Amino acid sequence: MKRREFVKYLSYSLPLFSCGCSLHLPSFFQKPIENKEVSHLEDIGSAALDNTDKVLDAGNDITKKSLNFNENFADDIYCKGQDAILLEQVLAKFRAVQRYVGNGNFNLLGMDEFFMYSRSAARIEAVTREEKDFIERLFYFDARSYGFHGEKNFTSLTQNISKKTTVKVPYTGHFLRKGPSLDAYNKIRKDVGDSIILTSGVRALAKQFHLFLEKTHQSEGNLSKASRSLAPPGYSFHGQNDFDIGKVGFGLNNFNENFAATREFQILRDLGYVDIRYEEMNSLGVRYEPWHIKI
Ligand SMILES: [Zn+2]
Repeated sequence: MKRREFVKYLSYSLPLFSCGCSLHLPSFFQKPIENKEVSHLEDIGSAALDNTDKVLDAGNDITKKSLNFNENFADDIYCKGQDAILLEQVLAKFRAVQRYVGNGNFNLLGMDEFFMYSRSAARIEAVTREEKDFIERLFYFDARSYGFHGEKNFTSLTQNISKKTTVKVPYTGHFLRKGPSLDAYNKIRKDVGDSIILTSGVRALAKQFHLFLEKTHQSEGNLSKASRSLAPPGYSFHGQNDFDIGKVGFGLNNFNENFAATREFQILRDLGYVDIRYEEMNSLGVRYEPWHIKI
């Protein structure tokens, strides 16, 4: 992170967590972070990189936020001060562990395993007590406070996904649950053709944490804005049976409204597959996700 950006972090005005302690700058911030990697294309998208200073007011109109998910709103909640520093530290460790275990395996990693790898893997610094507290506070924080009104699926930080209930989908790097998810995916491929592909399947807590922290980082600490594009850890239906699909070769367009204009999406809709979890005008405070298959 460049010093200019870091100073911007410290100037956030809306607190999420109380802080008050003096700031100690770890060596982490004294040089730019090299790793800008988001390992492969996933639904955190890239549009949030175009941050503007525009601030909207939605009042009680949640749909306005869903439609303008990528804008800043007056009542958005930010990660600030020491928590902004912790966010960057923790994010670096999620990136490192994902690199260490591989993108595919990382999808199924529970938080206990994440902590274990952070302790035991070479060249990854163990998660500190303070960082763990930050992770716990983020997990147990009521996401409705920052405008996300979806359901919580994981109630405990140590809740895992049984690997035995999943199967790796060839050529995708992702996993699906055996049963209804795998059946639905195979049927979609049969009906629509090979041009449709799984872009994200089952995601355990470490993966959802990583995606959410990346999105918050892209959103300059704006947790509310991040949650309009991505369910906070514990709230994702990727922890259950839902999955994302895209058009082969369509890149990040698979995670914006352009996907809804593809032939593949039209076929899916005509065949009755489309039962959208996050509708265009939803009151959950989440953007429209035509690529997300609800099971
Ligand atoms: Zn999804």
